[in-house]
Amino acid sequence: MFGATLASLHGMKVKIIESLPELGGQLYALYPEKPVYDVAGFPAIPAKDLALNLVAQMDRYHPEVVLGESVEAVETLADGTFLLHSNKAVHGTRAILLAVGIGSFTPRRLPAEGAGNWEGRGLHYFVPPLDTFAGQHVMVVGGGDTAVDWALAVSRQAQQVTVVHRRNDFRAQEDSVRQMHETANISIVTPAEIEEIYGEAGVAGARIRHQDEGPRDIAVDAIIGGLGFHPDLGPVKTWNLDLKGSTIKVSLDSMQTTRPGIWAVGDAAYYPGKVKLIATGFGEVGIAVAQIRTYLHPGVSGLPHSTTLKNMRNR
Ligand SMILES: Cc1cc2nc3c(=O)[nH]c(=O)nc-3n(C[C@H](O)[C@H](O)[C@H](O)COP(=O)(O)OP(=O)(O)OC[C@H]3O[C@@H](n4cnc5c(N)ncnc54)[C@H](O)[C@@H]3O)c2cc1C
Repeated sequence: MFGATLASLHGMKVKIIESLPELGGQLYALYPEKPVYDVAGFPAIPAKDLALNLVAQMDRYHPEVVLGESVEAVETLADGTFLLHSNKAVHGTRAILLAVGIGSFTPRRLPAEGAGNWEGRGLHYFVPPLDTFAGQHVMVVGGGDTAVDWALAVSRQAQQVTVVHRRNDFRAQEDSVRQMHETANISIVTPAEIEEIYGEAGVAGARIRHQDEGPRDIAVDAIIGGLGFHPDLGPVKTWNLDLKGSTIKVSLDSMQTTRPGIWAVGDAAYYPGKVKLIATGFGEVGIAVAQIRTYLHPGVSGLPHSTTLKNMRNR
């Protein structure tokens, strides 16, 4: 969406193609209510609000938005332009900016016995509105950013949160780990693993195995699997791009992929030193859009900033 804003602002005609039924990527689909603390200019902003702000910012320029279409193939024509074949239509374009993130959002499922039976009955991988947990005892499993962020967010509504992690150390942002340790209604059980979920109509508790103290039953109303997500670029893997695991290799000074006319930004883009943050994605978009502008209009370079553009137009 920020790519659409910048490209539109600099006179390019933009079409966004998104496979989900709504815009917003991970922010909107995976953690809408989590506060985000590391986007410049916002001391704290719920992910959903940041996504909606990005939509509002882009909507000023009326880019065309196509929802519910997954791009499956990219065909290069003899004149160097492209046809994008989605599951529903074919779209023509002169340049492509891939911001496909981690691809489809497939959660890493809990290894507990029979866990699959409890999905939708108290076991969550996508966190619903936080008031779902009002007054409840919630178990969060995992030790990375996903688990720690969700534990903190849920603790504002839940009566009690128990975090279960198989190591003593957490691999999440240090400040979030500190907050988690200081939050009165969060208790931490480590090193321990979830073995079994039990209940009747819905989740009633979980049996965990503490590495030093053995098995223990903890009664809870809900369990959140916070082990992160399997990145899967899906069809993008077949587009003749140079890949590194589930990311697309780009050149650091241009964000261009190894296929001419195609750029990549955000979580999908890889270069040495890459950090997967919203803030870095925004910066990469600035670099990529400047390059695309030069690609489409040889002879122009860089991106004048928006106020300069406005002054130029006024004149
Ligand atoms: C729980 C959690 C908490 C996080 N907290 C923070 C935080 O506090 N601060 C921070 O900076 N970062 C955070 N992140 C990381 C941040 O969300 C990502 O860095 C960011 O969303 C990347 O944006 P993106 O646009 O690259 O990709 P995404 O947000 O993944 O968006 C990619 C979009 O592309 C679509 N797509 C994929 N393939 C296709 C296709 N073939 N056709 C059409 N559409 C397609 C997907 O449906 C998706 O909507 C967090 C991530 C998680 C999971």
